[in-house]
Amino acid sequence: PSYSGFESLTGWELACLFPFRSYYSHKGNYGRVVIFGGSIGYTGAPVMAAQAALRIGSGLVYIGVPQEIYSIVATKVFPECLVFPFEDKRLFDAVVSQASVVAMGPGFGLEKKSEFFFRTLMQLDKPLVIDADCLTLLARNPELYEEIKKWAVLTPHPGEMKRLLRKEFSAEERMEIAKSFVKDKKITLVLKGVRTLVAQEGKALFVNTSGNPGLSTGGSGDSLLGIIAGLIAQGFDPFDAARCGVWIHGKSADIAAEKRKTKEGLLPMDVAENISAALLWM
Ligand code: AMP
Ligand code: MG
Repeated sequence: PSYSGFESLTGWELACLFPFRSYYSHKGNYGRVVIFGGSIGYTGAPVMAAQAALRIGSGLVYIGVPQEIYSIVATKVFPECLVFPFEDKRLFDAVVSQASVVAMGPGFGLEKKSEFFFRTLMQLDKPLVIDADCLTLLARNPELYEEIKKWAVLTPHPGEMKRLLRKEFSAEERMEIAKSFVKDKKITLVLKGVRTLVAQEGKALFVNTSGNPGLSTGGSGDSLLGIIAGLIAQGFDPFDAARCGVWIHGKSADIAAEKRKTKEGLLPMDVAENISAALLWM
């Protein structure tokens, strides 16, 4: 049901969007997530996205990183994740041509080199999930909205949203801001924060109800990115991936906090480890 233009769904209501995992399935049925991110000092960000993408059930998860941090990232991440240096053109083409979805931004960097690579990624004819540094790069190069060929998902926190809009807004204005942004840009927007909003033109605004202040720590957004990308890889359309994704992300954090008996010290890795438990509520 939709009340006065927005709706909040429970896990059970969102569950009907989930397809059953067929007994006869293989990894090819659950898609390939390719994550681009990481830079010197930011070797953990793409790893947190990848762990969450794996735990949400993606068929295959790849991380493309700069050569200089390749071995660090490859050593940090679960062995199930495939890591490659994106400067290798042959590897880049091989991986990206097979991708179901491309997620970009965690620890991506903002230098000239990163910006050049970002432009290449924006031209890919793939579903895109754009977060973190890539949102800042998009804010710097707004003409690139035109490059988005398939509906993309943007996942800004309020600070990043203000950068995209080039203006301030209050908490009271966020619903109106979200609705007018998607009308203008024709993308799916996840405006994060307490009661994260998911907006797409023509759809009732989704207001999320799960989550807790344990998520207020570096890396939380990276796990959300991995979850949303993983759902798109499994066949969800961007809007459904975004609203299920934010709910699962928050619910995983709620379960993790309950198990730990405290919200303090909750880590993105704890959130990823409790995705399976959150799925039991769907
Ligand atoms: P980021 O700032 O990119 O790391 O993203 C933070 C993530 O954690 C977003 O999904 C936020 O909605 C979520 N988050 C942070 N603080 C809270 C909170 N107090 N209550 C609920 N969700 C939160
Ligand atoms: Mg973030």
